[in-house]
Amino acid sequence: MKNMLHTFKTNAFMFFYIWRQKCGKPYILLKFVLALFSAVFPVVVSVLPGLIINELLAGEVTRRLILYIVLLLMIPLMNSLLNTAIDKLLFSLTEKLTLANLREFYHHVTQMDYETLENPEILDKKQRATDILGNNFVVVDYICNLFSSLLKLALISTIIIALNPFIILLVVLVIFVNSVITKRHDQKKHELEKRVQSQERLQWGVNFMLDMFEYAKEVRLFKIGDFLIDKLINSEKNINREKRKIVKSKSAATSLHAVLSFLNQSVLYIYLVYMVICKGLSIGSMTIFLSAADQFSSALSAVSGSYLKLTANALKISDYQEFISIPQKQFSAGSRTPEFSKNSTIEFRNVSFKYPGSERYALKDVNIVISGEEKLCIVGPNGAGKSTFIKLLTRLYFPSEGEILLNGININEYDYDKYQRLFSPVFQDFSKYYLTLGENVVLADTYDSVRLDAVSESSGISRLVESLPKGYETQVDKWIDKEGFEPSGGEGQRIAIARALYHGGEIFLLDEPTAALDPMAEYEIYTQFHNMITDKCAVLITHRLSAVQLADKVAVFENGSIAEYGTHSELYAEGGIYTEMFNKQAQFYRDNPLGGSAPEADLPDGDDEA
Ligand code: ADP
Repeated sequence: MKNMLHTFKTNAFMFFYIWRQKCGKPYILLKFVLALFSAVFPVVVSVLPGLIINELLAGEVTRRLILYIVLLLMIPLMNSLLNTAIDKLLFSLTEKLTLANLREFYHHVTQMDYETLENPEILDKKQRATDILGNNFVVVDYICNLFSSLLKLALISTIIIALNPFIILLVVLVIFVNSVITKRHDQKKHELEKRVQSQERLQWGVNFMLDMFEYAKEVRLFKIGDFLIDKLINSEKNINREKRKIVKSKSAATSLHAVLSFLNQSVLYIYLVYMVICKGLSIGSMTIFLSAADQFSSALSAVSGSYLKLTANALKISDYQEFISIPQKQFSAGSRTPEFSKNSTIEFRNVSFKYPGSERYALKDVNIVISGEEKLCIVGPNGAGKSTFIKLLTRLYFPSEGEILLNGININEYDYDKYQRLFSPVFQDFSKYYLTLGENVVLADTYDSVRLDAVSESSGISRLVESLPKGYETQVDKWIDKEGFEPSGGEGQRIAIARALYHGGEIFLLDEPTAALDPMAEYEIYTQFHNMITDKCAVLITHRLSAVQLADKVAVFENGSIAEYGTHSELYAEGGIYTEMFNKQAQFYRDNPLGGSAPEADLPDGDDEA
């Protein structure tokens, strides 16, 4: 009973969700019209041959005989013409419903709290929710099928009751047993499908590494082809092991179903033969009853089939509902409109942070104030908490303790979208979008070409654009287009810098933006960059202390805390960690002069990121 209620409530949720869509109402109404036809027409057609036989037995051509024959011929034709006409309309309505569903789903995905995206439980929910993605309208089909089969059942029952009501009992019993078996199978299948999900994610990852060009180099040089293929084969085997269990459960259900139908048909035939031979039932009536019993059985199967589909669908809808209702805490947090000018301040006040599921503080008691046009440089060894600082600043994560204030107001009180628009980020790992080169910079369909040319010039990609036959229209990645272009690490970083410049936020965030560039190119970019953002705020994380010359203040991070803070001269005069770092690096540059055969010069902290 509880299950039934759940099935009903969950499907009703999706049904009314579709009803509320712009094209949902005509879709549902058309489906009901089709359902009505598909209930009435077969019943009429199944009775007509028996009626014709009975008329023929009378030995003359009556008006009724002609009417029956005309109906028998016309109904299938009308049915097929109506279906074809309505199908055309349904196709475009289905497309609109699918697109609306896709839009809603991915809207939710892109607006979910960033931290939820690394939670495996949520990733599982997301994967299960995609089962219904672009297909949520099937609930209307199932409900209409249920309606049509129930109507058909009611019409046919009136015919069969005239013969023997016990026949109905027999058929109902068979169908009931069948539906119990099928339901058990469906539940088992759903459980097994859940189990294969994590294996499928792993398999997707391995496939990706085997397919994508960016891995091809290392796959060859590290000779990891066989290692990855073995992983792929193993996960395929694990998936198949679970799938075999599904097939086994299905074949048991199908066999039992076939045996029960055989018994049912045998009893019916024996009874009808007895009625014709011993009780004088006419051949025409026997035909009507036979066909009615057949229709009854198929209608009842359809009722239970539609109900079972609704039950299975309810499980999928629940998964979808669960995923889509994961709260977007950050997104809905605040409503204020942020203002940022040269007089603004951003303050970290006693901020500490632990990543979800981690016991260790990634940041501990951080206090710092950044003002409107300040250029702050953050330095420090790997794992010191520099990137985490940026993630908290941009509200990708919440502080575990303390607060971050913009102009004296907690940043969570600001509208999430508007707040994040203040920032123009450049991350070390360049996000390659599978779009054209121009779109990779502007991240939109249309662009201001003067602005695009200016940022290309400043970031040093204009020569690259000129060298490509299709210029900005060149597809990034050869995997999609063989005439596409595969950016090198350095080119990727330049594109990312152009992207941030084009975006033109108030606060530039540069997290190791030049790690893949050589020191000369780095210097050139920093200088151009600095000229372009003189009146902007910038937070720059770097391992290379040459960039520090462009900064007003320097913060040295160590073990999640700010160990030293001040201007370059102040810190250098202190003779602490910063001085040691600077001297070591200066020594490195002296020993390996710029423009010579110097390898990349990074902080001498055993760093492996450059
Ligand atoms: P940095 O940018 O200075 O190299 P990070 O801010 O990336 O340092 O990392 C600070 C600490 O937080 C490190 O110990 C790192 O392992 C940990 N950390 C970073 N990202 C995550 C994450 N998503 N989940 C758990 N721990 C993380």
